[in-house]
Amino acid sequence: MITDVVIAGGGPNGLMLACELSLAGVRPLVLERLPRPSEEPKANGLLGQVVRMLDHRGLCGPLSGSAEPPRPNSAYFMFGALGLDLSLLEHSPVHTLPVPQRRIEQVLEERAIELGVEIRRGHELTGLAQDGDAVTADVAGPDGTYQVRARYLVGADGAHSATRKLAGIGFPGVTYDRMTVRSAHATVPADWVDPATGALHVPGYGAVAPFMPHRTERGGFSYAPMPGHPPLVSTTEWDQPATAAAMSLEELRASVRRVLGVELPLGPPGGPGPHALRRLTGGNTRVAERFTDGRVFLIGDAAHVYAATGGGPGLNLGLQDAVNLGWKLAAEIRGSAPPGLLDTYEPERRAAARRMVLNAQAQAALIAPGSDVTGLREVFAELLRDPGAVRRLAELTTGADVRYDLGGGEAHPLTGRFAPDLDLRTPAGPVRLAELTRTARPLLLDLTDDASLSRALGHDQVDIVTARAEAPAPTALLLRPDCYVAWASASPRPGPAELEALRATLRRWFGVSEPART
Ligand SMILES: Cc1cc2nc3c(=O)[nH]c(=O)nc-3n(C[C@H](O)[C@H](O)[C@H](O)COP(=O)(O)OP(=O)(O)OC[C@H]3O[C@@H](n4cnc5c(N)ncnc54)[C@H](O)[C@@H]3O)c2cc1C
Repeated sequence: MITDVVIAGGGPNGLMLACELSLAGVRPLVLERLPRPSEEPKANGLLGQVVRMLDHRGLCGPLSGSAEPPRPNSAYFMFGALGLDLSLLEHSPVHTLPVPQRRIEQVLEERAIELGVEIRRGHELTGLAQDGDAVTADVAGPDGTYQVRARYLVGADGAHSATRKLAGIGFPGVTYDRMTVRSAHATVPADWVDPATGALHVPGYGAVAPFMPHRTERGGFSYAPMPGHPPLVSTTEWDQPATAAAMSLEELRASVRRVLGVELPLGPPGGPGPHALRRLTGGNTRVAERFTDGRVFLIGDAAHVYAATGGGPGLNLGLQDAVNLGWKLAAEIRGSAPPGLLDTYEPERRAAARRMVLNAQAQAALIAPGSDVTGLREVFAELLRDPGAVRRLAELTTGADVRYDLGGGEAHPLTGRFAPDLDLRTPAGPVRLAELTRTARPLLLDLTDDASLSRALGHDQVDIVTARAEAPAPTALLLRPDCYVAWASASPRPGPAELEALRATLRRWFGVSEPART
């Protein structure tokens, strides 16, 4: 029996892809090596465009526990431990959602199961071979080994991806092996914390703002008072490698002393541990040579990893890989994909990954030790008084500047970009654009005064919604299922040429030519 899609890896990105395929009518099989979810602490939250994307799938509420739509940060963010004053911007592009990775995985797993996905825990991909029709996967499960044949196999199996290695795909990039990060939940003297700002005032050193990485010429320091937990204290140092001894609070104290040059009396927190005492040496920024190999695809950490400072780009990129690939793969399997649709996955996501490499490497350079870096930082700090510079770095860090090359020099400025935030009035009442994309179907939004587009067009594979926008907006938008704008118009009444461009776009992405509505 041939399964449509096997996903190797039931981490966040594999589970997101499983949800997207299911929404598009394809039931994948997820193979997850671990018999039960890992307790290893990873991401503390989501940063960037991915928060808006999850809103477009109705997942922000379950993750944040709030019915309020996500709003951008309007205060400070950072780049290479330099403050970005977002209040200089009319519209901040920085969205954050502070949710631990374990919770993100739980929510996605629940959603996948609701949608009918089969998740086999304790089943590890150990081999693969492909022919013209399918991929044969070797699997080691609790009851022994077996094979599955699938039309496609997606490797969502993390940074050490077996899929990538079995497909013979290289993973070039850089390793930062001089760098060691130490962290622990620990108490700090209560009277050193400013109750108004949350800043930690270290005698002999000065104030350290909470959640903002802080650089000295000897290394980095951060103090994060996590709600409901003792503060998370971290250092980053160069050429201070690990010893054979287990990581301890005393090791962190000594590291803080080297970085800040003064004593910070860290105490063991009360309550049950573990208190996440961690020492990580080295980090990698790497991008796979190819994201596809015949019928095999890579997403998430299997395709790219970042030695990140500041907000982690991992899930911002990986979850959007899943959403980019899901609808294209489903259309191919259903037989409705126009020629070449699946080939657009790699160039679109590789361009986004390259921007994140630039982001990670530039930030790594700005936090490195040494007085020459201090000079570079002073120049950067001057540039960051300019709102234009703040905007560019905020957009780079969050991926808000991603614009897919969807063709046409004459295209509307929104073409290729993620859907704008729009508050709409429809015959059925007020609605946010993000609420119209929960089904992951292509959407034509007709905002013309006389609903001329929806009268001129009908399309069985595209939802058409007629509405009025609450604020200045384009007059029409065609959204792909991943919520990127495939076509947009600014004309109050799109003429024959624009209608023809819209029809060509419908053919390009959704294959069938549209029947005229009677
Ligand atoms: C300490 C730390 C902090 C981080 N902080 C952030 C942050 O704040 N924000 C952010 O966005 N990102 C952060 N990241 C990165 C983020 O955790 C990763 O980008 C994310 O986990 C990648 O998800 P994934 O699904 O691609 O891979 P993974 O999460 O690695 O999941 C892969 C899954 O595949 C399974 N698997 C592996 N091999 C096989 C096999 N052969 N067969 C079957 N299953 C297999 C694994 O068991 C695992 O469950 C952090 C990472 C770390 C380590």
